[in-house]
Amino acid sequence: MKIKSADFIISNSDVAKCPNEPIPEYAFIGRSNVGKSSLINMLTDRKNLAKTSGRPGKTQLINHFKINDNWFLVDLPGYGYARVSKKDKKTFQKYITDYFLQRQQLVCSFILIDIRHKPQAIDLEFMQWIGENGIPFAIVFTKADKLKPLAIQRHVTEYLEHLLNDVWEEAPQYFITSSSKKLGRDELLAYIDAINQE
Ligand code: GDP
Repeated sequence: MKIKSADFIISNSDVAKCPNEPIPEYAFIGRSNVGKSSLINMLTDRKNLAKTSGRPGKTQLINHFKINDNWFLVDLPGYGYARVSKKDKKTFQKYITDYFLQRQQLVCSFILIDIRHKPQAIDLEFMQWIGENGIPFAIVFTKADKLKPLAIQRHVTEYLEHLLNDVWEEAPQYFITSSSKKLGRDELLAYIDAINQE
């Protein structure tokens, strides 16, 4: 897929205020610092569409971007950062869960996982919740440039085995990406394109 346009539309923390155009929507979510903003910029070929930051928890809103005038890319807040109060965490969870449960246009959620890390409870719990609620998702392993090819394969295999040993009967669709090396871009965009054509 060629990216002809990528426009910021709106940020908010209320699913009812998200754009109501009936076009397919793809959400990106993951732990803070996983490389989500970099991935979004890499996919859209824009330097600063999503704001990258070393400051965890900066983007705490549901951000809608319209791509090629025919689908939405949604940048969701990063989860799992330590410096948020319990109350904030609850509010955060509520509007994010509302988003996933109520957003009709959502066709797939991409859950970002740093390829270097062992499976972490917060990601596994999130995947379990999203699976139980019947929301389609795929895993996007990020920062693959940080590992050598053999290590990439080993980490991915271990991660998927962990999922299969846990609760999953089938391994989810996954992508191996590196924003700094532009790895996985074509595959991810082709996946979105194929769904859009259905
Ligand atoms: P976010 O908090 O999930 O949006 O993460 P960012 O995109 O802001 O990235 C967090 C940090 O990881 C930054 O220092 C980025 O430069 C770095 N980073 C992001 N993607 C990659 C990648 O593909 N490779 C490498 N080596 N570093 C990355």
